[in-house]
Amino acid sequence: MSSTHIPERSCIICRSKKEKSKLFRLAKIKETSYEFDKEQKKQTRAIYVCKSLNCLGKLAKHNKVKLDSQDLISMLNIVNKANKNYLNILNSMKNSGELVFGINLLFENIEHVHFIVMAQDVSKKNEEKIFRKVNELKIPYVVVGTMEELGKIFNKEEINVIGIKDKKMAKGLIND
Ligand SMILES: [Zn+2]
Repeated sequence: MSSTHIPERSCIICRSKKEKSKLFRLAKIKETSYEFDKEQKKQTRAIYVCKSLNCLGKLAKHNKVKLDSQDLISMLNIVNKANKNYLNILNSMKNSGELVFGINLLFENIEHVHFIVMAQDVSKKNEEKIFRKVNELKIPYVVVGTMEELGKIFNKEEINVIGIKDKKMAKGLIND
């Protein structure tokens, strides 16, 4: 397996390490003021935050990171839109027989899984387990919605992770 180096950064809120593309970049303007660097190209120092409602919510109350409310709204909109798209697609795929859900079934079927959707509020322990697997097997993934929202798709109380077995469906989700 190739070992191409993908630059990683830590979320200023939850400290989890992710690829830069999985995080929002906030470029430093002065002291505690930052602005949303959507294209991740500004030549300034920067901090990063997860593309999750949870971390953005905490960022809004952070006293060492001052952001224009317009910037915060832009980021929230991006997350909401992405979440809604993924949840809608998963919902329309739920009877296809191509989805496995829950960490145990996911790992049992891992060699057939081509894409992974993980809830934002999955436990730290499971998050580490899943990240170790996706990194090891280079399975593309996205962090979307809450365990409750993922559960709702399958009429369950909570689901922490969903794996997509069908290659074409997985591709559709990746390009979304
Ligand atoms: Zn975070």
